[in-house]
Amino acid sequence: MTAARPGVVYLVGAGPGDPGLMTLRAAELVASADAILHDRLVPRGALDAARDDAELVYVGKRPGSPAMPQDEIERLMIERARAGRSVVRLKGGDPFVFGRGGEEAEALAAAGVTFEVVPGVTAGVAAPAYAGIPVTHREDASAVAFVTGHEDPAKDDSALDWEALAGFPGTLVLYMGVKRLPEIAARLIAGGRDAAEPAAIVERGTMPDQRTVTATLAELPGAAAEAKLSAPAVVLTGPVAARRETIAWLERRPLHGLRVVVTRARAQASGLAATLRALGAEVVELPAIRIVPRIDSVEVRDAVQGIHAYALVCLTSPNGVRMLFDALAEAGRDARALANAMVAAIGPGTAAALADHGITADVVPERSIAEALVEALEGLEVADRPVLVARAVEARDVLPDALRERGAKVDVVGLYETVAEQPDPDAVEAARAADYLTFTSSSTVSNFVEAVGDGLPSRARVVSIGPVTSEAARAAGLTVAVEAERHDPEGLVEALLADVG
Ligand code: SAH
Repeated sequence: MTAARPGVVYLVGAGPGDPGLMTLRAAELVASADAILHDRLVPRGALDAARDDAELVYVGKRPGSPAMPQDEIERLMIERARAGRSVVRLKGGDPFVFGRGGEEAEALAAAGVTFEVVPGVTAGVAAPAYAGIPVTHREDASAVAFVTGHEDPAKDDSALDWEALAGFPGTLVLYMGVKRLPEIAARLIAGGRDAAEPAAIVERGTMPDQRTVTATLAELPGAAAEAKLSAPAVVLTGPVAARRETIAWLERRPLHGLRVVVTRARAQASGLAATLRALGAEVVELPAIRIVPRIDSVEVRDAVQGIHAYALVCLTSPNGVRMLFDALAEAGRDARALANAMVAAIGPGTAAALADHGITADVVPERSIAEALVEALEGLEVADRPVLVARAVEARDVLPDALRERGAKVDVVGLYETVAEQPDPDAVEAARAADYLTFTSSSTVSNFVEAVGDGLPSRARVVSIGPVTSEAARAAGLTVAVEAERHDPEGLVEALLADVG
């Protein structure tokens, strides 16, 4: 990884909207820059990876107020670079395709500021691709033109030669052309373009709510108006548009068109949310809980100091593993502190987290549930032996109780607490119209119910990670549609897919 360098401005393309279409270079620059100047059309979550202390400046349009003047944006970049800071100028799509990136590069050159350009995936290629339309095709189009639809084609002093465009032997891709679509179509047809040519408009391409309308060039304006399509959208005209019929793939993904709520704590949710998105779901992240580490508490410090004395150490969640190793690191210790102990993990996810720290768990039940771990530990002689159960403060006592019953000297240490997260009102609103609610623990259930209050989603189907969570959901008045057979996020996704059919 090469971090953003001080005093340098990076003109970076963020891609068309799908965060997965940001380049690796864009991601590493965003993650390391001192300052990020960004537009409206950058992918959701693109800035999440920015440093906590990075300066984020929004320089795009705000509804109801004009965009920041171009020279003001340029001044901001230059000023920061001269102050020795690393600056990312993050733009939607590609910075040099209708993004005024060229002008910004010229301003930087004129000011003597060092800059680099990081191309991005441009909407004119990506939105059609997500709609199942290749902009070139050996049989249909050997050329493609990117055209701005921003200008009034009726204007005499238009910079565009519409006659020439009408006769262009290939695909026309129009950016910023929704508003003027009727004039553009009319002008192209008047210029000799076939009125019956296949055409398409792709709204919010590569985003979860992408919509595509196809029609003949003559009928496209009417069809777009009827579907109430609006910016951002690309308009495309050419025989390739008809290829959508066979190539459309987005709509065929298993969770396409379904809104799924993820209630995990933000730190853990990203994997689950990303998996669901990759399957085509529109994911609403409503982290109902937040994880608060307690690794600085006296209780945890004492446990870590004395950890070598335990014969058995039980970990009951991947978070617990992470916190334990954080606490060990804090105490200047590492995995060797566990050299004398048997290590038990509640399930495969926890075992995987241990493996990340070089520990192969001695005991791992297949189902991640306390009862299963109790069973898996049955053969182990624990009478009179010191056992540490390291877990969430509010976890159930099934495991320590069972071990005590068998004579073990059990210490329980709460490595972290899960507390209710302040819900984001937009996410709550979106969750009310969800098709699926996913719950990964009892605390996510109770906190979700609290967050949405009276407006519990009526038609949403509930997917639960396991019996304890299902019980909590039923107690909260929800009907559980499916329960995962494997009690981990992968199992949850499998259960959801099975329910969809
Ligand atoms: N530099 C950008 C384009 C900026 S101009 C790029 O390379 O993609 C803004 C126009 O881009 C919008 O009016 C729209 O026509 C198009 N656009 C940007 N994002 C889009 C998206 N996700 N789906 C469809 N069109 C998009």
